[in-house]
Amino acid sequence: MAITKNHEKMPTVEELKEKILIYEPDADVSLLRKAYYFSHEAHCSQRRIEGSPYIGHPLAVASTLADMHMDHKAIIAGLLHDTVEDTETRIDDIRDIFGEEVAFLVEGLTKLSKMESRSGKETQAENFRKMFLAMAEDIRVIIIKFADRLHNMKTLEYLSSAKQKRIAKETLDIYAPLANRLGIGWLKSAFEDLGFRYMLPDVYKDIEAKVAKKKEELEEYMDEVAAIVKKKIKKEHIRASVKWRVKHYYGIYQKMVAQRILFDQVHDVLGIRIIAESKSNCYAILGIIHSLWTPIPGQFKDYIAMPKSNLYQSLHTTVIGPRGSRVEFQIRTEEMNMVAEEGIASHWVYKEKGKIKERDTKYIAWLRELVQSQQTLSDASDFVEEIKGEVTPEVVYVITPQGDIRELKKGSTPVDFAYAIHSEVGHHCVGAKANGRIVPLRYELKNGDTVEIITSVSHGPSKDWLNFAVTSRARNRIKQWIKKEERKQSMALGARLLETELKKNDIPLSKLKQKSIKKVLESFSLGSLEDLHVSIGFGKVSPHQVANRLMPPKERDIEEDIAGRTKAVKERKEFKGINIKGIDNILYTVGKCCYPVPGDDLIGFVTRGKGVTIHRKNCPNLKRITMHDDRVIDVDWTPSENETTSVKLLVETVDKPGILANLSALISAEEINISHLEVNTSPDKKANFTFTLQVKDRDQLSKLSSKISGSSGVLHIKR
Ligand code: MN
Repeated sequence: MAITKNHEKMPTVEELKEKILIYEPDADVSLLRKAYYFSHEAHCSQRRIEGSPYIGHPLAVASTLADMHMDHKAIIAGLLHDTVEDTETRIDDIRDIFGEEVAFLVEGLTKLSKMESRSGKETQAENFRKMFLAMAEDIRVIIIKFADRLHNMKTLEYLSSAKQKRIAKETLDIYAPLANRLGIGWLKSAFEDLGFRYMLPDVYKDIEAKVAKKKEELEEYMDEVAAIVKKKIKKEHIRASVKWRVKHYYGIYQKMVAQRILFDQVHDVLGIRIIAESKSNCYAILGIIHSLWTPIPGQFKDYIAMPKSNLYQSLHTTVIGPRGSRVEFQIRTEEMNMVAEEGIASHWVYKEKGKIKERDTKYIAWLRELVQSQQTLSDASDFVEEIKGEVTPEVVYVITPQGDIRELKKGSTPVDFAYAIHSEVGHHCVGAKANGRIVPLRYELKNGDTVEIITSVSHGPSKDWLNFAVTSRARNRIKQWIKKEERKQSMALGARLLETELKKNDIPLSKLKQKSIKKVLESFSLGSLEDLHVSIGFGKVSPHQVANRLMPPKERDIEEDIAGRTKAVKERKEFKGINIKGIDNILYTVGKCCYPVPGDDLIGFVTRGKGVTIHRKNCPNLKRITMHDDRVIDVDWTPSENETTSVKLLVETVDKPGILANLSALISAEEINISHLEVNTSPDKKANFTFTLQVKDRDQLSKLSSKISGSSGVLHIKR
């Protein structure tokens, strides 16, 4: 029978006590017994779905926790984990009897049990968030939740098929990746195999049957390989244990899917694990294996020198063993094996000082990072992808100029690297070198690249970076910075727009410092003058409205008068509006409709949320919007030294060979870059070129235009 019933014997509280006392001799045994009786009583009227007394469930959970060597407080919380959720028990009762610590854990678990069980990216992200928040407060909450889920998965056969599939999916989507990320290898495998069994029962049964069928043959083969390795290791006077095991079924299934192969083509269904006494022995054993059989290129992984992001360490290699069959080897030390199997839970097991600390801080730092990022990530599906993406170790290893190795998500760029070093390095990064050569910031880092970041304090991140940065850390930091910067820029813009408006109406600037401003702020429900500036800069409040409210009532009447209006408009004509310099902190964009350049006759339009958009005065788009005249302002635009602006130039020529080369030569002679080019030829032997050029100002453009129109073959030129 492929799926066996769960015949695990219900553990007794006495057995539980014995188990705990082995690793925690001074555990409070009487409190443990009390918790057992308390839980028993609270759940007494309840039964598990298959009919057994409910207490079997909390006992099983507690027993798993004892196997993981969790402290007795966590085990007590395990016994009580469903009492508040499912019975009349109040959390205060738990606090009174079992103390603050246990109550805290039970409360955390109660909150988690309210997790939405609907699927969908949004809900999934929300569930992840809840898990992370709980985890960040006390990691034991999540370990107890894991033990709870494990027992529920083991007893899933009693539920309806629809429920089985839903819970199985959640286990595969959330619990397995999380267990993996926390480095608890055995739990990850258990969650995957149990989830797989109920998610795709037919496929699971098929693999199980095929493994069983091949079992004898495989066993014989593996015994033979193991014997050869053992003998050779002994000859070299190295002590190590050699064991082989069947890969977990979900792992086999994933291999079949990823490589699109059939079961019979999965060669390494079995793996040999060698536990050595020291790191150097691991490498020595690797050498022995490679001298015995030919390693398969690309299959050797040194996770000892370069641990996975969940701190997993091991050597992996696949060789062509006796009679041409592939065999996978994993070689590691006892401690590495402990980390691989127990992960963050090994904290309670492995009390070797110093090492534990370092490991713990890494997990904690990772947790903190995730909790922080979940607060700034607005898109839920982004969040889920980030976590899952970083769980599967698709990574690239690069080297700092100091020779340290950094692990980054595959596809990372120098920007990701810079942010991984430090936020400030990221913010001020202007260029990068890979292996001593300058590379673009969007360059995809390769394994083994030595990466050096060039910074400049006067530079900040660009929105464009979001198009290629892949790590959540870099992306979040960039988004935060842009948000802050946009606020700053809107504030500067708003202040200037308001100043202009006040001058126009002969309102002294000192008015802004007087008490009357408070009333004006209140009328817009704003807290401070800064907020007012931001609102004006974002186009939410018009400076005209503010000026109006600051004026004495009498003058306001006049202002309301039509004559007054004409006067105001007239005055505006004389007034040079705001000055936009490239170096300013003014939020502005350039109209994509008319491609203005500095030196053109310009006009600004205050848009909502994007600051000022600069248009040419004759822009056809602008004609429709000039009626909202208080959002239209005069602008004077001076870009900073090396700044260029896009402009489109249409050139009609006769269609003859070499004409494009000619035009390009003319353009580059003016030191103008072509960022885009479209060519259309017509049947009447004409060619139409649409150049997108990067120019400094109108002068540069006119100079180029006259040169182009003067060259041979050019029929017509137009902006
Ligand atoms: Mn439960």
